[in-house]
Amino acid sequence: MTTIKQALQQASNDIDRFEAKLLLAHCLGVNRTYLITHDRDELPPSVLQQYDRCVTQRVAGMPVPYICGTQEFYGRPFKVTPDVLIPRPDTETLVDFVLQATSDKRPHSLLDLGTGSGCIAITLALENPLLSVSATDLSARALTVARENARTLHANVQFYEGNWFDALLSESHFDVIVSNPPYIHKEDQHLKNLKYEPIGALTDGSDGLSHIATIIKNAPRHLNRHGLLAFEHGWDQAMAVQDLFAQTQLWQDISTIKDLAGNDRVTVARLA
Ligand code: GLN
Repeated sequence: MTTIKQALQQASNDIDRFEAKLLLAHCLGVNRTYLITHDRDELPPSVLQQYDRCVTQRVAGMPVPYICGTQEFYGRPFKVTPDVLIPRPDTETLVDFVLQATSDKRPHSLLDLGTGSGCIAITLALENPLLSVSATDLSARALTVARENARTLHANVQFYEGNWFDALLSESHFDVIVSNPPYIHKEDQHLKNLKYEPIGALTDGSDGLSHIATIIKNAPRHLNRHGLLAFEHGWDQAMAVQDLFAQTQLWQDISTIKDLAGNDRVTVARLA
């Protein structure tokens, strides 16, 4: 028989100990504190089998959130599948910016382009109930995940399928538009570590800036006067994104915000 403690010890030869705990807690349907307080408990054979399978998947490189089917974002559990990007803590920078920008106790309409798991749109809808939130994605499979997350977390978000603004009616207008688009450069070495995630959610297959340029070009037709457009982007892309905004006279108050690690992460501008 194998105890919780032994199972964690055995796995720690092959995978990170913290990740082993996440996987075992997932298989037992308990939280991580339980593992500590019950470390002498013996594991039922079926749980042990499932846990061994999870460890094997992790050793092969599959990210823990895909194995467990869930990832926490802004304190809430989001369902994730390989059809959606795994929510990153960095993206909370974009959420915090929008919450602050819309904290005037008035209603605002908001659009999230390329919503994936729905983590940005759903978090904003829940954190500020005065926002009326819409979200798009090119991927019908991603939208299925996003809709399920909205249902489970009781968030009111309207979802639309299509390529950026093509998903919407031409007369749709918003006060705030946000996006965490695929911005990684196709040659970025970091991409090699992300091979389980949907490639189309990570890179544009070019310099990482093409989707941001497309959105900046088309956003004025869907933003209300003085509306905000905010992007998440790579740590080294702030100047390039600022330049894209500055190519026309349409944008003002162009600025960049750093994430908790001190990297440039979000660039925002206001429609003049
Ligand atoms: N920030 C993510 C990463 O570098 C990528 C997110 C994205 O491309 N939108 O892992």
